Amino acid sequence: MDFRLTEEQEALRESVRDFAREVVAPVIAEHYEKHTFPYDVVRQMGKMGLFGLPFPEEHGGMGGDYFTLCLALEELARVDSSVAITLEAAISLGAMPIYRFGTEEQKAQWLPKLVSGEALAGFGLTEPGFGSDAGGTQTRAVLDGDEWVINGSKAFITNSGTDITSLVTVTAVTGTRPDGSKELSTIIVPSGTPGFTVAPAYSKVGWNASDTHELTFEDCRVPAANLLGERGRGFAQFLRILDEGRIAIAALAVGLAQGCVDESVRYAGERHAFGQPIGNYQAIQFKIADMELRTHTARLAYYDAAARMLAGEPFKRQAAIAKLHASTIAVDNARDATQIHGGYGFMNEYPVARFWRDSKILEIGEGTSEVQRMIIARDLGL
Ligand SMILES: Cc1cc2nc3c(=O)[nH]c(=O)nc-3n(C[C@H](O)[C@H](O)[C@H](O)COP(=O)(O)OP(=O)(O)OC[C@H]3O[C@@H](n4cnc5c(N)ncnc54)[C@H](O)[C@@H]3O)c2cc1C
Repeated sequence: MDFRLTEEQEALRESVRDFAREVVAPVIAEHYEKHTFPYDVVRQMGKMGLFGLPFPEEHGGMGGDYFTLCLALEELARVDSSVAITLEAAISLGAMPIYRFGTEEQKAQWLPKLVSGEALAGFGLTEPGFGSDAGGTQTRAVLDGDEWVINGSKAFITNSGTDITSLVTVTAVTGTRPDGSKELSTIIVPSGTPGFTVAPAYSKVGWNASDTHELTFEDCRVPAANLLGERGRGFAQFLRILDEGRIAIAALAVGLAQGCVDESVRYAGERHAFGQPIGNYQAIQFKIADMELRTHTARLAYYDAAARMLAGEPFKRQAAIAKLHASTIAVDNARDATQIHGGYGFMNEYPVARFWRDSKILEIGEGTSEVQRMIIARDLGL
């Protein structure tokens, strides 16, 4: 067992760390406050090749792997989670379904711009009435000649309404199985298709520089060839995508948790109370030591899940453990980092205030903490 990074991985981590500090940090607070999407940051991330990290070179990617993507997400989230979730969703929810399940024609049509970061894709699974119970999908797609006719709506879809969004993949009921259960399939809906409406952006508690919309489909017609993978495989497809995505969200949560440690160490050295830096007080030292302990163990959990996935071994339980643990400790660290900052921790100009607002969604998105516990328990045979 060797958790040391390769030279390439270390180099990538360093360059993303520098990028986050030099390019993201100076501009993100304004985007966050104004709820604007950081197009310029995304364009520069595209130039660095970050959107192509886990994809092979034949598709314009960097030829790296999913673990390398996680390292990049961790470094970005250490500074800002809106930018990190934009990259995470663009790859693991946007481009990955096309790469994993698409035909050669679909890959040739959509992947080059997704992999270069010139375009983004959304993943439309959640609906206004169904999230955790994703099998409850109500959106319907009916084959009419050589077109799918889609009706329904999707809620909280990341990267679905930017100026560079090229498509969303939509999970829809396409029929009934012999046993009476729903047949679910995934269909590619290009942006701008008549009948496909993107609602104004949600007003969110956090992730304020990331793009999230409700989507509606009213007699929305797309070619039959836009079916992604086999008809009826929608359920299996989103389970696979979400299993992988949990490792990436765990990495993002670890990044936020580490950012809380970074900011707390700095502040504890600068802020004086009762005649000395607050970092001299053991109560503060122990709080920061516990934050570092939690971050380190959560990092090991996602490294383990990623290693199993890359080795082709079962990783569902480990991915759920990593996501559950990392999101829990991210919330804990954000709360403690805010406490260490006292009143300034409640001021939006301090990064820890942003960390606090951004931490809670980690216990909800891509499967709530309750859902992770259900997955772990089921995997244990319960
Ligand atoms: C900012 C943001 C971005 C998102 N991006 C996307 C995206 O790009 N694509 C996408 O498809 N979705 C996206 N989502 C949706 C997200 O994945 C869901 O919100 C999440 O899965 C929870 O679903 P829900 O909101 O419907 O909650 P519900 O499923 O209604 O759950 C409500 C509560 O009940 C609990 N619960 C549910 N069932 C059980 C049970 N059996 N036992 C115990 N407790 C249970 C849940 O854990 C939760 O606490 C996003 C959400 C947000 C907020």
